[in-house]
Amino acid sequence: MAFKPDKPSIHGETPEGLGSRLAEAGHPRYRAGQIFEWLYPRRAESAEVMTNLPAPLRTWLSENYDFSATQVLGKKTASDVTQKLLQKLRDGSLIESVIIRAPMEGVGQDKSRRTICISTQVGCAYGCKFCASGLEGWRRNLSVGEIVSQLVQVCRIEDQADPTRAAEGLASFDNIVVMGMGEPLANYENLLAALRIVNAPWGFGFGARRITISTSGVVPKILELAEEPLGFRLAISLHGATNEVREKIMPVNRKYPLEELVPAAKAFARKHGRMLTLEFILIEDINDSLEQAKKLASIARELHAHVNLIPYNKVEGLPWVRPSISRQDRFAKELRALGVTATLRREKGHDIDAACGQLRLQKEKEQGPDSLPPAAA
Ligand code: SF4
Repeated sequence: MAFKPDKPSIHGETPEGLGSRLAEAGHPRYRAGQIFEWLYPRRAESAEVMTNLPAPLRTWLSENYDFSATQVLGKKTASDVTQKLLQKLRDGSLIESVIIRAPMEGVGQDKSRRTICISTQVGCAYGCKFCASGLEGWRRNLSVGEIVSQLVQVCRIEDQADPTRAAEGLASFDNIVVMGMGEPLANYENLLAALRIVNAPWGFGFGARRITISTSGVVPKILELAEEPLGFRLAISLHGATNEVREKIMPVNRKYPLEELVPAAKAFARKHGRMLTLEFILIEDINDSLEQAKKLASIARELHAHVNLIPYNKVEGLPWVRPSISRQDRFAKELRALGVTATLRREKGHDIDAACGQLRLQKEKEQGPDSLPPAAA
């Protein structure tokens, strides 16, 4: 179900597309270049601020384009300075974006390395059993403009903390992970179009190598992504090292079992010559046994992949439990003993409902069901 706004988002445009529309409306095509200068390096919030454009063109832009396809509705900051943004779309749908700050040595907090986690869908159809985003089903895909607009909003917030990069016209973040609400590869066309804008010199000029796309394992799309000329990074949400365990918590495994997923991941890695990441949420008595660690080590070695262990973050209404610290450590130790590089990520933002989709669910409950568009079947 696609949402049709009354005006398209300016952040979904390319110089060619905007140039053609300008020409059709009787404005010079070259103005598109000036408009993009305002949009990304200068984060313009409206056409009115574009002072080097003639007034009739500014009026035309305001009448024909939406400058805020997403709007920040609220922020929640955790003690470890992970910040979660709730963003509202034009149809009232809510999505989440997360800013994760990792301090850099010798500089203050405002100069920390910033990773932005973005969403690609409203809700999710993939129904992973541990995930808040899948709880209420899929509503719709985000448009190209909505995906890009999320990042522009983050930039506007971060510019206040660190105006240096804004002054140089650079993006106010260091990495992007496409790991928020939704299965990114189920919204493939819009995601790729958005990331091309983020990467373009007339957009954010942001390197593809600093963008990680995370998938639950949509095999045909992994193979398609492998053929993309832009070399994005790939992370696979594995969460189970055997079909039996994976199927318990990830319905996608019935369609694309490990015998298909692992070769597809391997094909991607071979094509782009770069290390994959395997994400593995540790859930007590589901996937945190030493047997699972051994099987996971074997997959990681085959793929030359790094393993990111994430202790499960409690989601209200779901039965799963986070393993004790000693069980988490035991699992990580086993992987390392088997020659796998593994990071045990003590979940940032534990105190702000950081598991994907939780803040949105909470807000929707407060607003009541009538405030939202219906879920798709
Ligand atoms: S973990 Fe990702 S793919 Fe699975 S339900 Fe949640 S958002 Fe969807």
